[in-house]
Amino acid sequence: MNIALYPGSFDPVTYGHLDIIERSAKMADQLIVGVLRNKSKVPMFTVEERIEMLKEVTKTYSNVIITSFDGLLVEHAKKCKASFVIRGLRAITDFEYELQMSQTNRILYPDMDTIFLNTDLKYSYLSSSIVKEVALLGGNISEFVTPYVKELIDAKLKDGE
Ligand code: ADP
Repeated sequence: MNIALYPGSFDPVTYGHLDIIERSAKMADQLIVGVLRNKSKVPMFTVEERIEMLKEVTKTYSNVIITSFDGLLVEHAKKCKASFVIRGLRAITDFEYELQMSQTNRILYPDMDTIFLNTDLKYSYLSSSIVKEVALLGGNISEFVTPYVKELIDAKLKDGE
């Protein structure tokens, strides 16, 4: 079975992430989304909230599973039996870091390859950070996230008032 792992912070999940999920779910028998427990960043949503959010927005894909991990990506890939990792590329600025990471991961775990999907042009500007920034400043984020995710962001911002 062809198992792919798509790792990221997904804080929150955007239409850019969903486009990558939809496209890679067609390529793999099973797509495992891995939410990174990143202790160095202060997130808007807890990992558990992000897992719930991802489950809801991917519920129509029968071969997509949501997981979380900390530590090395290659260890999670081994645990999931994933033979390739999916990463999205938005701009040339993503490329240098992604290339370095994928080469490092191949040294750490030669059986795993990284597949890069270029962004759909209409999402090339989109990142979770920009969504949070626009939302915090009171802007309309409905072009960036699903209505369900928008509600969760609105609720978070209300809580924080
Ligand atoms: P962000 O940079 O939005 O905080 P994540 O760490 O959650 O992103 O990103 C997970 C993966 O999704 C990365 O490979 C990233 O390049 C990719 N990605 C994020 N936003 C987009 C987008 N708009 N189009 C394509 N890929 C994206």
